[in-house]
Amino acid sequence: MYRLISQLYPICRSITGDGLRQTLRILQTHIPLEMREVPTGTQVFDWTVPKEWNIRDAYVKNSKGERVIDFGKSNLHVVNYSIPVQGRISLSELKEHLFAIPERPDWIPYRTSYYKESWGFCLSQRQLEALTEDEYEINIDSTLKDGHLTYGEYFLPGNTPDEVLISCHACHPSLCNDNLSGIALAVWLAKHLRGLTRHYSYRFLFIPGTIGAITWLALNEDKLPRIKHGLVLSGVGDAGKLHYKKSRQGSEEIDRAAAHVLQHSGNPYELLEFSPYGYDERQYCSPGINLAVGRLSCTPHGTFPEYHTSADNLEFVYPDKLRESLAVCLEILLVLENNGTFVNVSPKCEPQLGKRGLYRMIGGESDAGVTEMAMLWVLNLSDGRHSLLDIAERSGIRFESIHKAANALREHRLLREKFEFVPTAAG
Ligand code: ZN
Repeated sequence: MYRLISQLYPICRSITGDGLRQTLRILQTHIPLEMREVPTGTQVFDWTVPKEWNIRDAYVKNSKGERVIDFGKSNLHVVNYSIPVQGRISLSELKEHLFAIPERPDWIPYRTSYYKESWGFCLSQRQLEALTEDEYEINIDSTLKDGHLTYGEYFLPGNTPDEVLISCHACHPSLCNDNLSGIALAVWLAKHLRGLTRHYSYRFLFIPGTIGAITWLALNEDKLPRIKHGLVLSGVGDAGKLHYKKSRQGSEEIDRAAAHVLQHSGNPYELLEFSPYGYDERQYCSPGINLAVGRLSCTPHGTFPEYHTSADNLEFVYPDKLRESLAVCLEILLVLENNGTFVNVSPKCEPQLGKRGLYRMIGGESDAGVTEMAMLWVLNLSDGRHSLLDIAERSGIRFESIHKAANALREHRLLREKFEFVPTAAG
């Protein structure tokens, strides 16, 4: 994941354009995602697909011809979506189009101007302070014209048409935690899931933030009833603890699965209530869409100084944290995959586990890792009204143990699926 992030880091992405396409093409070397193109001007709910932005070069030169601000050194130096501009201007005119962070004198801010046609440069406070009275040559070699909005979609079919949606934004230029970490995690989740037998179908979206989610939702309303659970992945590689932000309803299966997995992860974590702000959960959880979609992040966006600056770089993201986020995500999905509801077929008193070889525990755990307590809880609460996740929550035992116990009990015909047909003596 970290290697993929390093490979994608230099590309100048935006909500449209070739940087986004180039990014998706690199992802295609890992998973066979489809690239979709939606024309400029397409009406998507209350929004319109914008013009396509592309940039080749940009600079500010002093009168000696030296590039004092150079897009070639960092793509953050240009306000993303800047219109093309050339000319010679004074320092005071130039300063009206410059953005820096006085409190962080070495960092370059990340600024955008998606929905208002303008231009600007971002630079460090030190660079700004070094600019002297002079005549400056400015050049932004960009184009903003009718084209397409591009996004990537990868559909992985399962045994049922019911879907899990995994969504990440892929529209930021050289920023690592914000956008690239979520992309890398989604790609690795897809790679893992490809090799497993899946109950659910999985739909992965690599989209420009906000307008990409709105576009996908507007063009795919027919698919929404199939989406049973979803996760937005963003900012999953920094050193902070994991945060799960609940869906709008707050007590959906995905919310409970995420809370359960984090509670048993052994690492610090925090659960956040839903709010109509943040990443694309804003769109998935808008009232007319109302999907059961939560969000997984490390330190929440906007609450760390590196957010939307050049300091969100390769040093800000850690391979170990990416590994932890991947493990947590996979475990959440495995809870969803395996969360069945069963019926104890021998509910009058405890069935005799010893004669079935289910009671030969040494230190409480058998060779298969099935604990006696997990079996007793599954037998007791499997009355057709409690799912395995219900049982895991009530018992305080990790879902994985509850699931293993249920499997062992099913093998010994002490448990059946809730809707399994069982012939009775009466026929
Ligand atoms: Zn961002």
